[in-house]
Amino acid sequence: MDKKLTCSRRSFIKGTAATTIALGTAGSLFSINQSSFKTALAQEIQENKIFQNACPRNCYDTCSILSTVKDGILTKVDGNPDNTYTRGRLCVKGYSYTRSVYSPDRIKYPMKQKGRGSGNWERISWDEAYSEIAETILRIKKEYGSTLPICLNKYSGNFSIMQYGIEGMLASIGDHSIATGTPCWPAGIDAQTFDFGTIYNNDPEDIVNSKYLILWGVNPAWCAVHSMYFIQEAKRRGCKVVAIDPILTQTASKADVFLQIKPSTDGALALGMAKYIFDNQLYDAQWLARNARGYEEFFGYIKNNITLEWAADKTGLPKETIETLAREYATTKPANIWIGYGMQRHTNGGQNVRAIDALAAITGNIGKSGGGAQYAHLETWGFNYHAMVQEKPQDNRAHGNRAINMNNFGAEVLAADNPPIKMLWIACRNPVSQDPETSVIKKAFAAMDLVVTAELFMNPTVEMSDIVLPVTTTFENPGVNVSYWHYWMTLNQQAVKPLYEAKNDITIAMELSKKLNEMQPGSCTFPTAGDLYEWAGKEFNANIYSQFGINDWKELEKGPVKAKRGLIAWQDGRFRTPSGKYELWSEEAQKFGHHPLPVYVEEVKPSGKYPIRCLTPHWKLNIHSQFQNLDWMDNIDNTPRLEIHPKLAAQYGIAHNDNVKVYNEIGYFILPARITETVPVETVAAYTAWYKNRNYNVNYTVKAIPADMGKKATGMPGIAFHDNFVNIEKI
Ligand code: SF4
Repeated sequence: MDKKLTCSRRSFIKGTAATTIALGTAGSLFSINQSSFKTALAQEIQENKIFQNACPRNCYDTCSILSTVKDGILTKVDGNPDNTYTRGRLCVKGYSYTRSVYSPDRIKYPMKQKGRGSGNWERISWDEAYSEIAETILRIKKEYGSTLPICLNKYSGNFSIMQYGIEGMLASIGDHSIATGTPCWPAGIDAQTFDFGTIYNNDPEDIVNSKYLILWGVNPAWCAVHSMYFIQEAKRRGCKVVAIDPILTQTASKADVFLQIKPSTDGALALGMAKYIFDNQLYDAQWLARNARGYEEFFGYIKNNITLEWAADKTGLPKETIETLAREYATTKPANIWIGYGMQRHTNGGQNVRAIDALAAITGNIGKSGGGAQYAHLETWGFNYHAMVQEKPQDNRAHGNRAINMNNFGAEVLAADNPPIKMLWIACRNPVSQDPETSVIKKAFAAMDLVVTAELFMNPTVEMSDIVLPVTTTFENPGVNVSYWHYWMTLNQQAVKPLYEAKNDITIAMELSKKLNEMQPGSCTFPTAGDLYEWAGKEFNANIYSQFGINDWKELEKGPVKAKRGLIAWQDGRFRTPSGKYELWSEEAQKFGHHPLPVYVEEVKPSGKYPIRCLTPHWKLNIHSQFQNLDWMDNIDNTPRLEIHPKLAAQYGIAHNDNVKVYNEIGYFILPARITETVPVETVAAYTAWYKNRNYNVNYTVKAIPADMGKKATGMPGIAFHDNFVNIEKI
């Protein structure tokens, strides 16, 4: 038999790159011994087992995966063709899963660090880890009379519903502090909540029915790659595609028209378009009369306050361009707008989204196939959240939980008093890398009695922890995944056994509960035993079954299923606002301190000392701090760069590849320059990512400035990541 097929598990793991490449291309192997390889391959195919899996990494696409396992080893991942959104393909990040599961960099055992940040780690047993954690929890409870000094910081990185067991575990010990909010998208969520009553987008597969599509501040070619098929198909059927973005993205390069707008002025463009639509009576009076509230007031505002000249001046786009865009958008039906998350990461981001939503409303494009104002949805997330909702112990439920703003986490942890925060539990997050004001985050970590991080890989947050617990990948435990973009649900089957000593979060919660109850009976209510598939089953209810047209969640073992209804948002005209109408005038917005209408809120401008806006968008080879640390990504591109326009570069005497220090009053980072006209003259771009073995973090310069909205729907305002001003110098 071919040596490759009889190798031990250990040598397989070491040689996975070569093996996978050989299986994928097989060029040299065929040339050496083609027939014996073919025989071996046929035999291997017979022995393969296929599992259903899902990509859970907080990506629009949440792909359905078919995993191939041979002899207990994950050998291949593919997109599942049964999912008509995934369409049998993954992105480059997804195809790298065999590399992340068997990465030599995975955290293999529980470890304890002697001296936070020292790198002096020693392996400990799970029992030792649980004992130290449980002792600290019980000591804190005794000293402070509650467990409020224990703070959970958990968000994405693994969006399986099973991961909500982490919240359940903390709830099971009693009152605690919890990082609240969401960094990425809250201003837009609030904006759409004021307008529509909630976020709710059309099925993205419906994009093919659009005749006019505006991709407004969104870069699916990098961040929602499967949507590009539907965009291209729409184009093929005659749809005109317009991309609006400060950066000439890969998506924009595929559009019919690219409009390079000044950052944070999207609301001015939308209101300028609304002005043209109003002046030329291109609005849908019938739709407005039937479905909307406050349109007379909105048109009054437009009439009295907005001019095309003003919009042109604000946005940097010629007046005639705005007129053309408005006319085409209003007269080509159905017209669709996809609103990205980047454009709401401003101090006026929520208002800008409201202004864009208003365009869809006044032209009557809402509730229509091919139309709409797409942002996101949570329509398929109606699980029981059984793992999350656990009863608190009788003796530790007097205060209620304490919310700590996730979007200003370091400062709020340090400021928390009566009682202070003394212990952090971090899961599915890498705040030291991804949150603003890295230096403050590090100070907060340094002030803790104990920091516990449950992670897959060593990263800057683990480096600042005392104990790290190795967790399973999505292939090593069951789960269920749905998307905030498409309408598919996928069962995640356990395809391989947990590697090394890795454990699933719910298993960790059960075992820690056992330890706590051994030390102090009744101190933790989380179940101490249970089968993970049973946990999964408890998340389902009659509504979910009916929505997806299944009778039992085990039917998902046959493959992913798509929701059977609700695929065109607001088709029934029943908006979830207080009035039941689309609210151009929103008293709910007013309650949260905003103008009731989608008015323009001035964008933040640079100050004299820091005259350059530094945009920090997502990178194509990562999602937040995931994936870029893997060897395949590293091989494709291992050098983050500062993108800088040739005119700005010339002004600062910077040439291609020169090292550039990017700084402001809170910190700095250094990157080699990429001179490119894809960024505006007065703006630089540095992509947010965590690279293994590189001390690079854009968040050293990003301040925790709140976006205008987010508090209503997510508890905290978002972060104005893109209102970050810096200076640069060649070093
Ligand atoms: S990262 Fe996104 S596009 Fe890539 S495989 Fe995962 S879900 Fe699919």
